[in-house]
Amino acid sequence: MISPVLPTYARAPLSFVKGQGPWLETADGTRYLDMGAGIGVCALGHAHPTLVAALETQGRRLWHTSNLYDVPNQQALAEKLVESTFADTVFMTNSGTEAIECAVKMVRKYFSANGQPDKVEIITFEGAFHGRSSAGIAASGGAKMVDGFGPLLPGFVHVPFADIDAVKAAITDKTAAIMLEPIQGEGGIRSVSTQIMRALREICDEHGLLLVLDEIQCGMGRTGKLFAHEWAGITPDIMTIAKGIGGGFPLGACVATERAASGMVAGSHGSTYGGNPLACAVGCAMMTEILSDGFLENVSRLSGHLRQGLEGVVAAHPDVFDSVRGEGLMLAIKCKLPNMDIVNAGYDAKVLVIPAADNVVRLLPPLNIGSKDIDDALWRIEEAAIALERQIEAVSV
Ligand SMILES: *Cc1c(COP(=O)(O)O)cnc(C)c1O
Repeated sequence: MISPVLPTYARAPLSFVKGQGPWLETADGTRYLDMGAGIGVCALGHAHPTLVAALETQGRRLWHTSNLYDVPNQQALAEKLVESTFADTVFMTNSGTEAIECAVKMVRKYFSANGQPDKVEIITFEGAFHGRSSAGIAASGGAKMVDGFGPLLPGFVHVPFADIDAVKAAITDKTAAIMLEPIQGEGGIRSVSTQIMRALREICDEHGLLLVLDEIQCGMGRTGKLFAHEWAGITPDIMTIAKGIGGGFPLGACVATERAASGMVAGSHGSTYGGNPLACAVGCAMMTEILSDGFLENVSRLSGHLRQGLEGVVAAHPDVFDSVRGEGLMLAIKCKLPNMDIVNAGYDAKVLVIPAADNVVRLLPPLNIGSKDIDDALWRIEEAAIALERQIEAVSV
């Protein structure tokens, strides 16, 4: 008999009733160190007092009015995003996939409004994850995501990951944009190099294409800059944001330059909930925290600490782990054993890590995790590795 919740998730036999910082607690009081942070969402950990206060204050005042009226918190958050990024304008959503929807529609509208309605194709990378809507799965293209859901939204061309020659070869009169994650998340923490980011910007300029960056997972401070593309010294035309911006409250955004957004006018797009007062109160508080003095520098410092520790753990357990990769606090360990073995051994050691493609486990801890908790996580990951080594020995004896 089907479960009351549609069985689309392969869930761990675990659930949590409360959280504090990087710690989660089950009903029986067992504590787990959360190095996944709700897939990079809880960027300030659980129950951060500033975010809780922002939500409580707004919760007592006003929940929802719709976008028929100005929403002051939405205006404030849009202004903060415009001030601190390349963008001139922002559309608020409730999720990442909705931000992708807006980006795809904006690309198409830009060319149609500028007298080039045949330019509809968006080039994306293999291994990409752009969400689960019809446009999102068509953009992503992974077999598991699209199987059985055809006919897919047309207009997406997939090329091998970060392959500049393949991108160039894929460009035709119909090409409108290139869309990518500066660091693939679900794809296994695969970084696009600075050099390739710059080359993609140049290709877009040369061919009059829009560059769309999906920073839903790698943005909002995760790499030690507010957005990952800043490391390459380039800017996109359109960018999607979600996950970390709401710290756990559903919130996303599609941000763009004035030029890229020029086709979007009253009636072009909308959302009942997008940019609602509660979400934007939290989003504003999150932006203030991440942009506060020293916050991003601290992310880089913590990243160095975690990365160095992980390199040590990997070196000490060569039968379990292969290598460390990623940027900032978006790190992964490439595994030699099946990555789910490490995730499961992590549950036993009371540390949460997240599987991703290419047989890695991801670490996306809260950006304000303490150094002591990083050491604790390293120790628990080591404990998981030791338990797995014992199993290997027991089998080989
Ligand atoms: C999570 C994610 C999405 C989808 O976001 P949802 O909020 O799950 O719809 C899209 N792109 C990237 C890079 C993501 O990590």
